Amino acid sequence: MSETTNLRPDRAAWLKGPAASCSMKPEVLARPWRLVLLGAPGVGKGTQAELLGSRLKACQLSTGDVFRAAKGLKECERSPAMTAALGYMSRGELVPDTTVLAMIQERTSCLTCGGGFLLDGFPRTVTQAEALQGILKEKGIKLDGVLDYRLPLEEIVSRLSGRRTCAGCKAVYHVTGRPSKVAGVCDQCGGKLVQREDDRAEAVRVRMAAYQQSTSPLTAFYEKLGLLITIEATGTPEEIFLRTVDVLQARI
Ligand code: AMP
Repeated sequence: MSETTNLRPDRAAWLKGPAASCSMKPEVLARPWRLVLLGAPGVGKGTQAELLGSRLKACQLSTGDVFRAAKGLKECERSPAMTAALGYMSRGELVPDTTVLAMIQERTSCLTCGGGFLLDGFPRTVTQAEALQGILKEKGIKLDGVLDYRLPLEEIVSRLSGRRTCAGCKAVYHVTGRPSKVAGVCDQCGGKLVQREDDRAEAVRVRMAAYQQSTSPLTAFYEKLGLLITIEATGTPEEIFLRTVDVLQARI
């Protein structure tokens, strides 16, 4: 497993769709990692995906990031399906499988990329997981594993309600756990720190219920396939990261 590097591909083909090409393509690796990351909102899955992306040189493919990128577009620049998807998202509900799968179908080049991938936030339902297995089979690609990050509910609620995101560069902070040097201001770009619409208490409750209902059955799905790797998500992001790397080293 190679050392951590700060150079990150811009993920243009993922965030903007197949018409865009990535300015810095990931290198074609002899051992590309192809992983799915699971975990309830707030377990720190996105942070782990970023840390793993630097270490494994694989792109973090977050479906939530695609929706957030579309939010920045004018309504006439988005498809009607994408505009409808943003409505589900702002209420904390899951976007319908058909919309999510159409979006993934447009981006399969990111799944076949020689740098591997870290799927973050997809699949979220068994229907999506079955569709992903179908796409990968068709492309002759196998998943290396599914990392399932686990954390007690009270800790999840505290993490989410204190989370702040930079409106500019999207860096993530926590009002007590990982504060910025100046309250409300991003250390990295000076941008304004905001609370994500779906981190508000009301939306968090809906998201947790959606997770329990739709996403928990995924663990059973992947356990049956022998792909599930459970990781305790307590401690600092670095501790969780080292725990993850240890597990992956053992699978090489
Ligand atoms: P995330 O950043 O992964 O927490 O995603 C933010 C929101 O985007 C979710 O609460 C959903 O509304 C929507 N979303 C992202 N990925 C999916 C998915 N795979 N299936 C359904 N909805 C999704």
